[in-house]
Amino acid sequence: MIVQLTQLEQPEISVCEAIEVSEIEWDEEDVTIAEAIQIKVNITKGDVQVRVEGLIDAKLNANCSRCFEEVKIEKEIIFKADYVTRENFSKELELELKKEDLDVSIFDGENLDLAEVVREQILLSLPTQILCRDDCKGLCGICWANLNKQSCNCHQSELQMRWIQLKSLN
Ligand SMILES: [Zn+2]
Ligand SMILES: [Zn+2]
Repeated sequence: MIVQLTQLEQPEISVCEAIEVSEIEWDEEDVTIAEAIQIKVNITKGDVQVRVEGLIDAKLNANCSRCFEEVKIEKEIIFKADYVTRENFSKELELELKKEDLDVSIFDGENLDLAEVVREQILLSLPTQILCRDDCKGLCGICWANLNKQSCNCHQSELQMRWIQLKSLN
């Protein structure tokens, strides 16, 4: 959904909308968007910037970085972001340094693409490593068994092998 700022009648509008998965240019391989993203945002036109703040309800699918099992992620992202033209970017960036909870991005000054806002905020909210649970045991490096579900004897038999090799040296 694109908001044309020149067409706005008031300096502030509220948007409560579902952004379809197909609208979002998503090219992450490890994470996919499971369904339409619900957003509730306020858009305020300032002197140099357009501020977008509100919340994004996202349902995502990912794979655990350790055991590769599917992980369903439900995120409610509360955010505040400023959009500025390229010319005003450095000025606005100083502001961002003062306020840590503010993200600053560049746009053309006329068309604010909410699908792009959603994409950016989801990316910012993702952890560097997605795990199915904090203490995921991952896969055995030898037999690839999922160690959350079963234990294997690889470590055990490796020790036995070494023991046999040691004995055969004598
Ligand atoms: Zn896992
Ligand atoms: Zn194993």
